[in-house]
Amino acid sequence: MNTECYIIDISYKLQNFKKVSSNKYQFKCIYCVKQSSKPSGYYFLDSKKFHCYKCKTSKQLKEFVYDLDPSLLKNLSIHTNKYLELKEFTEKMKKPRFVKDIGLSSVSSLKYWHKHQLLTRKLDIPNKYHYMVFSSPDLSNLCELIPKHSGLVIPVLTNQLLITGYICFKKLEQIDINLTKEPLIFGEHLVDKNLKYYITNNFIDSLKYPNTLYSKDIYNTMDENCTILRN
Ligand SMILES: [Zn+2]
Repeated sequence: MNTECYIIDISYKLQNFKKVSSNKYQFKCIYCVKQSSKPSGYYFLDSKKFHCYKCKTSKQLKEFVYDLDPSLLKNLSIHTNKYLELKEFTEKMKKPRFVKDIGLSSVSSLKYWHKHQLLTRKLDIPNKYHYMVFSSPDLSNLCELIPKHSGLVIPVLTNQLLITGYICFKKLEQIDINLTKEPLIFGEHLVDKNLKYYITNNFIDSLKYPNTLYSKDIYNTMDENCTILRN
């Protein structure tokens, strides 16, 4: 495992997190944070160890993460399982193209530590869909109803329908912008209705879970064979 990716992924839980040399990250020590205002904790990429120069605590990465938040370790294994059971798209999705320049850049073109790269990973959006996730410095360019804020944009073309899921960086909420008058449903042609299938109003979940379709209006879309996906 590349522990640099891992430590960056969990860095939202660490205060004053920054890279201080090619193999070292600095942040406030989680063991003595109440006694010290200075960041005295370090993570060393070479030895894969945490060490604090103030309270002298040393931990292996896994022990450290366990102390930080045990659910991060659990999430990591669930995460791995999720990748294994990912549904395969039967139809290759086209790379979205925009009719006018609205200042979007592909998330995969951003630096690994860019906040929108971090957000994409934090949302567990599988790597294979990163090409359809875009970063916007100002979401109000898309629609005047959206406040001026940077965020992620996921434009999706389903037959003739354009669905745009927008996730604001601060509040982590999903907002759908309906650019057509049609109902917003995605993935209907990708689910096998002979099997148990699920419906969700969270677009990202529809990408993560097998046999799941997305609908903005789940109660009017669902039939007796489908179940609402709950996490
Ligand atoms: Zn300490």
